[in-house]
Amino acid sequence: MDINTIRADFPILKQKIYGYPLAYLDSAATSQKPDSVINALSQFYQQNNANIHRGVYYLSESATKAYENARHSVQRFINAPHAKECIFVRSTTEAINLVAQCFGHLRVQPGDEIALSAMEHHSNIVPWQMLCEKKGATLKILPMNQRGELELDTLEHILTPKTKLLAITHASNALGTLNPIKKIIDVAHAHQVPVLVDGAQSTPHLKIDVQDLDCDFFTFSGHKTYGPTGIGVLYGKSRWLESMPPYQGGGEMISHVSFAKTTYNDLPYKFEAGTPAIAEVIALGTALEYIESIGWDFIRNHEQQLLAYATEALSSLPFIKLIGTAEEKIGVISFTMEGVHPHDVGSIVDQYGVAIRAGHHCAMPIMDFFNIPATARASFGLYNTLSDIDQLLQALQEVRKIFKL
Ligand code: PMP
Repeated sequence: MDINTIRADFPILKQKIYGYPLAYLDSAATSQKPDSVINALSQFYQQNNANIHRGVYYLSESATKAYENARHSVQRFINAPHAKECIFVRSTTEAINLVAQCFGHLRVQPGDEIALSAMEHHSNIVPWQMLCEKKGATLKILPMNQRGELELDTLEHILTPKTKLLAITHASNALGTLNPIKKIIDVAHAHQVPVLVDGAQSTPHLKIDVQDLDCDFFTFSGHKTYGPTGIGVLYGKSRWLESMPPYQGGGEMISHVSFAKTTYNDLPYKFEAGTPAIAEVIALGTALEYIESIGWDFIRNHEQQLLAYATEALSSLPFIKLIGTAEEKIGVISFTMEGVHPHDVGSIVDQYGVAIRAGHHCAMPIMDFFNIPATARASFGLYNTLSDIDQLLQALQEVRKIFKL
């Protein structure tokens, strides 16, 4: 695989920002899209647009086929046993809210517990807090150490007979930590605790096999996996999904409706009320096929090389402090600069064509743990190069000069 050939697939990367080549280092927030994904969207609207499932005419049938083919692409991509266990939702956020509301409604009683980790994104905290408030349940938090690694020795004490679910991230968007998720799931299952894995940050970077993981639920977002915004996936074991009540009421999720009583459709439609994001689903299928065409070996090796290079270069700068130094990481580097607010770091490097994120990364408890308000964060996708990182390093020297560090 040649990186220049890959970069040529991403039209946005060809542009200059303030006269500099764009160094896009914010793929953890959202990834850029290859031509094939952009074309899938416009091709759908130009040649195939029709509502799905209910039509008896050619366009509707071919749109339905493309939509359901994309579900099979998702099934293959995460190695789900059945396509009906792959539910299309708006995003990781919606997937977690769905489980919190539907699984929570079914399983959680006053006095019960939901276990989370100390490194969760707000979208894997707030839905559980809302559930706990409603049900009189409580949250238990698996702690982490100063490197940003979970303290797995304590997991057995966090899980109790009252724990109804462990909801945990596979990889941290703010720290980059890649958690030993299979081991965590094994421990939880040994305590009869089902596990939801927030895969928003892992799915773009490594092969996901939900059968090997044996997770009960797995979630990811299309827009971080080189696909469109507005589409995400919830995988769930059918025995859970079948027992859960529907999420939203409306068209398509029903089997029969009368004013006296409604019966619900089978999986996956029970959880897909109303007209779905048809074009986005189809383009998500294209994005997953794109990732597979590049290959996991290339992606993992390439991104690990970028991570190693950036980690070494940034740790050698005395004015930089890395936040999140776990042994196992995805391509995410968070850092602070003594005396400079991360927002200033982000705004200044932007002047040199470097796009990084600054803020709390929707993970305020992590910021509190490290006693900082925010970090600057560079994150890598399969299209980044060592020269993107060099461009960041040079721009950081400009920040240093301005602040006389
Ligand atoms: N979990 C993690 C770990 C994330 O990084 C994100 C996105 N930053 C989310 C959940 C939420 O994803 P989305 O905004 O696509 O719903």
